[in-house]
Amino acid sequence: MYSTMQDGELSIAQLLRYGSQVHGTSEVATWTGQGCRRRSYAEVGRRAAQLAHALRGLGVTSDQRVATFMWNNNEHLEAYLAIPAMGAVLHTLNIRLSAEQLTFIADHAEDHVIIVDSTLAPLLSKYLPQMSTVRHVIVNGGEAGDIEVPEGIEAHSYERLLADQPTEYSWPAVDERAAAAMCYTSGTTGDPKGVVYSHRSIWLHSMQVCMSDSMALSQADSTLAIVPQFHAMSWGLPYAAFMVGASLIMPDRFLQPDAIAEILAAERPTFAGAVPTIWQGLLLHLESNPQDISHLREVVVGGSAAPPSLMHAFEENYGVPVLHAWGMTETSPLGSVARSPAGTTGEQAWAYRYTQGRFPASVRARLVGDSGAELPWDGRSVGELEVTGPWIAAKYYGVDDDEKFHDGWLRTGDVGHITPDGYLTLTDRAKDVIKSGGEWISSVELENHVMAHESVAEAAVIGVPDEKWDERPLVAVSFKDQQHATPEQLREFLSGKVARWQLPENWAVIDEVPKTSVGKADKKRLRTAFAAGELD
Ligand code: ADP
Repeated sequence: MYSTMQDGELSIAQLLRYGSQVHGTSEVATWTGQGCRRRSYAEVGRRAAQLAHALRGLGVTSDQRVATFMWNNNEHLEAYLAIPAMGAVLHTLNIRLSAEQLTFIADHAEDHVIIVDSTLAPLLSKYLPQMSTVRHVIVNGGEAGDIEVPEGIEAHSYERLLADQPTEYSWPAVDERAAAAMCYTSGTTGDPKGVVYSHRSIWLHSMQVCMSDSMALSQADSTLAIVPQFHAMSWGLPYAAFMVGASLIMPDRFLQPDAIAEILAAERPTFAGAVPTIWQGLLLHLESNPQDISHLREVVVGGSAAPPSLMHAFEENYGVPVLHAWGMTETSPLGSVARSPAGTTGEQAWAYRYTQGRFPASVRARLVGDSGAELPWDGRSVGELEVTGPWIAAKYYGVDDDEKFHDGWLRTGDVGHITPDGYLTLTDRAKDVIKSGGEWISSVELENHVMAHESVAEAAVIGVPDEKWDERPLVAVSFKDQQHATPEQLREFLSGKVARWQLPENWAVIDEVPKTSVGKADKKRLRTAFAAGELD
């Protein structure tokens, strides 16, 4: 028997219609280096219609791909809404990838149009001659002449293209399972892989972002979206904010700690999201340039493990709670969120908050051991995490990857354990695990302990070959200005915190931990540096 209920329309067009009307006075504001340029959600709605007309005028039909090569800003939000709402597919290009990866991705996705920020035009123009399907480039914040284009590609100015277009668009009905947006994983191994989100998956994911035990976004919030729109859809913040009328503050290209501090002081957001390295940088800045940031009701940290020392510093020194979350491009990205259970306080609550958190009802999770058997949720058994759910990828675009997907489950490549009440703790990425004398050493746990030392700025732990134990941990550590500790002092600091046999004997002092295109510790580069004898 079927239900008697309607299906409704879980589409970006409905999100756009709703947000721009009901929350028409909410705003998106983009930092310019000195203050913000602002647009109401009502204006965003009208400009999204104009953008859709303009794109149609350039020949964008059906599910053609329209890419963005942009920072987080007002126009990027317009693209987020207009492109899927008109039935086309938004493709966010990660501006920090190599020329080789970017040209591969644009060709693979068959991008027809690219919208580019004028500040990024010189960078994009270097790649355009190798991008074989691109026909139009639209320059945001500048003129068509600001970008050099090869023959066969036409350049346009964003504002000139929108001017005089109608401010209403008859958004077509779309199948909610149709492609709305796509994003490629940064491809630390092999070619980048495309994840294609549907209207339905984005809609359901946005609702989850707003739920109170998740990020609890509401109309009362103004949200500083630091995590790039080209990295895992800015963790879903733009769509979720538009859904509930939370205002958005976009940092554009101003991502240095002093700029973030300025934006915080000027705009006083209530919520913000970024990877740990951004927050670590801000903390260091605030140590010498103190400022009140208690207007933040909470900040969300994910993308790599949030060091407990960072969580304590925010909460105890600045009165700002840090919410730890886990996710991947393949999971839209919200997978789990670490709120402590009701009734817990003090150390017990902190222990829950350090974890990667609980999965929402829509996401099923399991742990799989080396033999392929499912492991119990007993808080001890360590295995690879697999997930399934309505906003979890079932496959990559245009490639078969049986390694990554099987029986309807996504193999995350993350390793950890889960408590009986559903709290996930990740100990490593499968490719980063350290096996010493037949026993696992968690690089994440060592990093967290080292980073709690007052003189340490950053730490990353890799496994290095060892004759006796097969592998031993090597700690690459960078220090705060003028402060240094010796490896002996750091070992002493770790003793009692980890088992004696885990205490690392290999240390390398570096200026800065190398980062990937999305700001995470790049352990591949550290391993290469070690192999080249550069980490002694
Ligand atoms: P990339 O694989 O290029 O880093 P993603 O942003 O999709 O791109 O990364 C997802 C991965 O980031 C996860 O599989 C996991 O290894 C790591 N990650 C994300 N959040 C956390 C977290 N809270 N703790 C530990 N690792 C995390």
